[in-house]
Amino acid sequence: MTYDVIIIGGSFAGMAAAMQLVRAQRQVLIIDANHPRNRFAHASHGVFGLDGKSPAEIREIGLSQLFAYPTFHLWNDVVESLEQTADGFIVATQQQQTAQAKRIILASGIHDKLPEIEGLAAFWGKNVVHCPYCHGYELRNNVLGVLATSEMALHLAAMIPDWGKAVLFTQGQFEPDAESSAHLQEREVVIKRSPVVEVRGDKDIMTHVILQDGECMALGGLFVGPKIGIPSPLIQHLNLEMQETPMGDVIKVSDFKESSIPGLFVAGDLSNPMQSGTLAVASGTMAGIGAHRSLVFDT
Ligand SMILES: Cc1cc2nc3c(=O)[nH]c(=O)nc-3n(C[C@H](O)[C@H](O)[C@H](O)COP(=O)(O)OP(=O)(O)OC[C@H]3O[C@@H](n4cnc5c(N)ncnc54)[C@H](O)[C@@H]3O)c2cc1C
Repeated sequence: MTYDVIIIGGSFAGMAAAMQLVRAQRQVLIIDANHPRNRFAHASHGVFGLDGKSPAEIREIGLSQLFAYPTFHLWNDVVESLEQTADGFIVATQQQQTAQAKRIILASGIHDKLPEIEGLAAFWGKNVVHCPYCHGYELRNNVLGVLATSEMALHLAAMIPDWGKAVLFTQGQFEPDAESSAHLQEREVVIKRSPVVEVRGDKDIMTHVILQDGECMALGGLFVGPKIGIPSPLIQHLNLEMQETPMGDVIKVSDFKESSIPGLFVAGDLSNPMQSGTLAVASGTMAGIGAHRSLVFDT
């Protein structure tokens, strides 16, 4: 069978895209490796209707709703190659299956490139996190660090006092200018210039950071903006147009989430400069609508 749309990645963005397409009675195949970006966290917060659910529960709810539609198909597999053909696209998977489709939606997410600081990765997704809207409430009323990995950290540090006492670690690299210094002071953010060189904790909870000058600081949470990694050779070989963000490049898309290759749509973290479960659902929904419109109007 030639599917109308193959969706690569079946998490927030992929499932949201599929929902629009199966409701338009289109033949949709999701191929998903089930390795979502938030798999390090016990629960997902701030996602309307799903607040506090685990990544596994969210997948189960999404898939159970999609399987109610007869044109929905799922393969638990990894797409290893994606090629354009005269009438669409062909994908091949790790389990040596192939499938053809008229349109593709890439919703395969990104991976986080964490700063190389001793001990930090062990606490990722627990109380070393990237997003205050996702985790700030659970970490509230603690001393909360912001470890600068880009100039965005200065904005983040100014927001953190809404959740707890904030400490900005500039890592000796991201010095606030006079205007942001004044704002950070007004927000009572403490600034530390000696770099964090080690993160320590108890079991999987971070408790302290060690600075290069020897200071040991107790923290209840640490916000870290990871850099964006797009590891898949699948994507690199497509040579898609990219969009720069302070955290790294994402794939450039139109308002309807179409990439620089006509018929190839991209949704979720892979094309969103601002990233969360809800924003991935929103862009997946738009990609689903975009792919459907393209099937109707661009044939
Ligand atoms: C630790 C942590 C905690 C977070 N907590 C929250 C939170 O509480 N609330 C919130 O709103 N956001 C949270 N986020 C952000 C959220 O996880 C992402 O914004 C969201 O998962 C992006 O959805 P997505 O569908 O674009 O990608 P993902 O959820 O990353 O899903 C991509 C899917 O594609 C699959 N895939 C990749 N390559 C292939 C391939 N070649 N073939 C087949 N399948 C493939 C993956 O296995 C995965 O299942 C958190 C992020 C992190 C890192």
